[in-house]
Amino acid sequence: MASSSTDRIRNVALVGHSGAGKTTLVEAMLFRSGVLGRAGRVEDGTTVCDVEPEEQSRQMSLSLAVAPVEWDGHRINVIDTPGDPDFTAEVRAALHAADLAVFVVSAVDGVQVGAEIAWRLCEELDVPRMFFVNKLDRERSSFDRTLDELRERFGQGVAPLELPIGAEAGFHGIADLLTDTAWIYDSGHGERTEIPEEMEALERTIHEQLVEGIVVGEDDLLERFLEGHVPTVEELDRALLHGLTAGSVYPVVCGSASVPIAVDRLCQFICEIGPSPADRGSVAVRAGDDVVEVAPDPTGDPLAFVFKTLTDPYVGQISLFRVLSGTIRADDHLVNPRTGVDERLHGLFRLRGSTSEPVDHVAAGDIAAVAKLSGTATGDTLAPRGTPVVVDPIEFPEPVHAVAIRARTQADDDKLATALHRMQDEDPVLTLVHDDETGQTLVRGTGATHLAVALERLQRKFGVSVDVEDLRVAYRETILTAATAEGRYKKQSGGHGQFGVATVVLEPLERGGGFEFADEIVGGAIPRQFIPAVERGIADAMAEGGVVKGYPVVDVRARCVDGKAHAVDSSEMSFRAAGRLALREAMAAAQPVLLEPISELVVTVPSELQGDVMGDLSARRGKVHGTDLLGPTEVAISATVPTSELLRYAVDLRSLTGARGRFAIRAAGYDLLPGNLVDSVPARG
Ligand code: GDP
Repeated sequence: MASSSTDRIRNVALVGHSGAGKTTLVEAMLFRSGVLGRAGRVEDGTTVCDVEPEEQSRQMSLSLAVAPVEWDGHRINVIDTPGDPDFTAEVRAALHAADLAVFVVSAVDGVQVGAEIAWRLCEELDVPRMFFVNKLDRERSSFDRTLDELRERFGQGVAPLELPIGAEAGFHGIADLLTDTAWIYDSGHGERTEIPEEMEALERTIHEQLVEGIVVGEDDLLERFLEGHVPTVEELDRALLHGLTAGSVYPVVCGSASVPIAVDRLCQFICEIGPSPADRGSVAVRAGDDVVEVAPDPTGDPLAFVFKTLTDPYVGQISLFRVLSGTIRADDHLVNPRTGVDERLHGLFRLRGSTSEPVDHVAAGDIAAVAKLSGTATGDTLAPRGTPVVVDPIEFPEPVHAVAIRARTQADDDKLATALHRMQDEDPVLTLVHDDETGQTLVRGTGATHLAVALERLQRKFGVSVDVEDLRVAYRETILTAATAEGRYKKQSGGHGQFGVATVVLEPLERGGGFEFADEIVGGAIPRQFIPAVERGIADAMAEGGVVKGYPVVDVRARCVDGKAHAVDSSEMSFRAAGRLALREAMAAAQPVLLEPISELVVTVPSELQGDVMGDLSARRGKVHGTDLLGPTEVAISATVPTSELLRYAVDLRSLTGARGRFAIRAAGYDLLPGNLVDSVPARG
């Protein structure tokens, strides 16, 4: 086993678009390192990283997975991530644990939106980046075209370190520009040889460009270079590591994950030049109101960050953590400062897909897993008792898409909340809410795929079956003018009867005005003790629903101005009924109308899509209030849009923008529904 010392650990997240070859690349790395006798295939559902049936049936990763690869005395903790934009929460979590993001880019398809999204996250979280240009064995693949695209999208820091030898079916090796050597894979293994003659001139030119590109970042190396010094490979490696760690250089290597070709070179590169946790340096953590720096020192105070929680059918909850400082040993006690729970870390292990290997200690910088923590969730810190330091939690995306569900049976209903709660441990973006106004149970998430997968898991893992229903819109009703009505309740049955009359003036209030009641009875026409019953009757009728489509009534003032009572037959019950009748009658005479909920949206899209998105918003009866340029290529559009027009906005925006758009949404009150749409509104269920 590789050494556990911090400088020999590499935490590497594989990121990029779905289908670029990330999961296949992990297989190839495991195969090349000797862990696997043969690489699994995504098509066969036999890979290490895609172990869940929902991943295998879709042939795509849905959550992050860690696979340690032992290479040249190092441990590379490879973290495979999903490429689908619905699952960026997983990419975020992976980047919190990684010191390097390897962007896997298909040389057939080029830079796709999954890579762009991951790039934005890396910028935000300040994670060093490099590229693996994959699928060079495929027809219509092109290294040059892909490299041009990388430069165009990601700037001048993009620096090729390798060139492919041969193309498409003839692709069989790489030229290493740093060492001026070639690696040929005709025998299945990389054999070091000379650069082919026909490539020499090209290789020299690119080598020189590369050296110039690398030395400009290092002042003293640049000075000596300008004086005629030819940098050694070690000097170039050191300069590359600095540039990579500082985020000014993005090295590009290439190969084929499925053949595989040059995957061993990638591993070697990660070990030689990839930043170790020590190279990344200290992390800032909060200690009360102070911010303190914690160095990845194996002899320091133990401190760990839980970046992912899984649930295993046999083991239960498994927490994946990265040790930020100190050395954590099996059976250590650490405290979760958020919950105050004292956690005993029995059974430390390394997870590789669904297999686990016990370990007795885990040093600073390394990643491992622990089962059955009782009060710790994703994003929590584990610290020694008496040292309540907290790492900033992972900022997960807001759930912007919802489906309404109905449990199939009472037994399903009984289990639903607990099951969803357990799923949230694994997937904190998922939320379950009961909408009191529409009476529906909603599951919220990031998009249609996210929620479809969640409902499949709900069934498979927890045996809870639900049906999906159309989302209801929480319309309301109000009035446009004032009207007066007399609510008269009179019943004579058997003994004493029921009698109450209340005359009510109903007036419109401004939006958001709610309900006001005024007692304007003079001369005791309604005895004082019955006035609250009139008010309650009106409020009951408003909640039960108005006269248009039965939605709750809002924004009215009711003035009780007159009434009649009977010495024997009047009661609280009869005045409550009178209030209810008065409301309904007055409302019918006061131009009743429907109100619809409005949402406030901020849509962020590449500038070239601004016109399309704004056009679509106005087709949804939206009003654009402003646009803000966010840097040179993105724009944020603020708008208010009727909520009923946005029930599938997450899905629609994704197809309108090829997943390049994102949005935030919040409720922004109610507005009058245009009269021509009233007929299309269903009666309240
Ligand atoms: P991911 O979504 O990025 O994890 O991509 P996968 O690893 O699932 O790969 C998507 C598809 O591309 C699968 O069918 C792989 O077999 C195929 N694939 C991956 N890498 C290569 C490669 O280097 N060459 C070829 N020809 N196919 C590849």
